[in-house]
Amino acid sequence: MFIEPNFGKIPAVRKNETGWIEVICGSMFSGKTEELIRRLNRARIANLKVEIFKPAIDKRYHDTMVVSHDKKEIRSTPVDFANDILLPASDCDLVGIDEAQFFDNEIVDVAIKLANSGKRVIIAGLDMDYLAKPFIPMNDLMAVAEFVTKTHAICMKCGSIASYTYRLDDSDQQVLLGEKNIYEARCRRCYNEGMKARSNH
Ligand code: ZN
Repeated sequence: MFIEPNFGKIPAVRKNETGWIEVICGSMFSGKTEELIRRLNRARIANLKVEIFKPAIDKRYHDTMVVSHDKKEIRSTPVDFANDILLPASDCDLVGIDEAQFFDNEIVDVAIKLANSGKRVIIAGLDMDYLAKPFIPMNDLMAVAEFVTKTHAICMKCGSIASYTYRLDDSDQQVLLGEKNIYEARCRRCYNEGMKARSNH
């Protein structure tokens, strides 16, 4: 049986302490953003200065809100490039970054700089693309992070634990914004069966 990992083990940051990087990653519909918001809200209650950034490309619901699929929301700043995070984040204790798979590899250096300057950096994003290939730059972010949490969805075919994002649309762009109209969370078996059926016709 699958046991939900204990996310509560990650310590809260204290002022003037060392920084670190946390990555929250998984398929679509796995609760990444909900987990990011939960950690940010806990820090905010502790009076830490929190800022959230997201790539300007992700405008699914609202320009300045990070909104999870269950509609919990938190104010965020959309930025065009990862480097745009450094200046506004300079006086924060905790920096949240959502949908990090839409940034280029520059986000890795940005995360390291922020953590080196004493900040707690929490990054959420898709670990794999729709072809089940590592989503750059999430793979590098996982490598440099102190803490990595994989969130899991429920397979929309069979109800098992899902780690894959299956695309219902035939487009071959890596980035295709959409929700349940285009994507399904699937377990390994149902993902592979779907991809095999697709390649046969
Ligand atoms: Zn399945």
